[in-house]
Amino acid sequence: MKLSDIYKIGELAISYEVFPPKDDESGEKLSKLYSELEMLKKYNPSLVSVTYGAGGSNRNLSLDIISYIYDTLQISVMPHFTCICSKKEDIETYLKEIEKYNIENILALRGDEPKDITVCYRDFRYANELVDFIKTNTDLSIAVAGYPEGHIDAPDLDTDILNLKRKICAGGEVIFTQMCFNNDKFFNYLEKINKIGINVPVAFGVLPILSYKQFEKMMSMASVSIPKKLLNGLERYKENSDDVKKLGIDFATEQCQALIDSKLVSGLHFYTLNKSYSTSRILDNLGY
Ligand code: FAD
Repeated sequence: MKLSDIYKIGELAISYEVFPPKDDESGEKLSKLYSELEMLKKYNPSLVSVTYGAGGSNRNLSLDIISYIYDTLQISVMPHFTCICSKKEDIETYLKEIEKYNIENILALRGDEPKDITVCYRDFRYANELVDFIKTNTDLSIAVAGYPEGHIDAPDLDTDILNLKRKICAGGEVIFTQMCFNNDKFFNYLEKINKIGINVPVAFGVLPILSYKQFEKMMSMASVSIPKKLLNGLERYKENSDDVKKLGIDFATEQCQALIDSKLVSGLHFYTLNKSYSTSRILDNLGY
């Protein structure tokens, strides 16, 4: 199903993000990922998205996962795709390849320049240029990334939102947001994007916190604010992984319930980190 159909229905769409496991010669992590997805299937997700290593580092594994989700689990799928440092011809070839898998959707991203790269092509500088290219050359439904608190490189939120508009004008149909722990900041973002004429559906990025270490690592890579209540809880429980997990579930449940009640959000997109437990508990709590 295309993004335009998934997000047109008027019901809140549940979706998950997964990533291709690294260092998995035995295939053990891949089998584990498939069984976690089996468990999450019972909540009737509208979509599963699969991340992409900037520069195409895990391309083949991503395609295996994509075809498993689509053919075996029979869930709509959305590969992520980055353009940074890539040549136009390579991007063209990959897009042709994914269309062979009957894929209908794509999350078009710029990506971040890999640290170890020797040659970085500048055929595409920003995601809006990739959106334009995909729109012109394929029939794919296109999603783009949004940052409720602004992208880390952007001088301010308003400038970042103007750049978001470029992606929507180029053909972006749905916005998937970066994780956000502050609903007020998200509502402020929605108001701002509506004001400049962005009216496409927005899927809110939910990160169920799984461990203190993982949380610290993810926070160092993004400009995301942490509400005091959450921060205090994490500091209190950081030595006990079960308590941290429970705090993450309770916090995300409360946050999602308030988003659902607001009726302002079109989707909840769970950053599952390839694990089903916390996402399942949150969806149970929400009555799914
Ligand atoms: P852009 O929209 O191009 O924005 C990047 C920066 O440039 C912003 O600061 C923006 O304000 C500015 N900008 C944009 N357009 C212009 C313009 N025309 N002129 C001047 N400035 C401009 N990364 C991966 O490597 N793999 C993934 O699978 C992946 N999945 C993601 C999924 C989601 C939902 C999100 C939110 C992010 C994901 N990322 C992924 C991270 C993403 O690649 C980085 O955040 C990257 O730095 C920005 O990508 P973008 O598509 O948002 O870039």
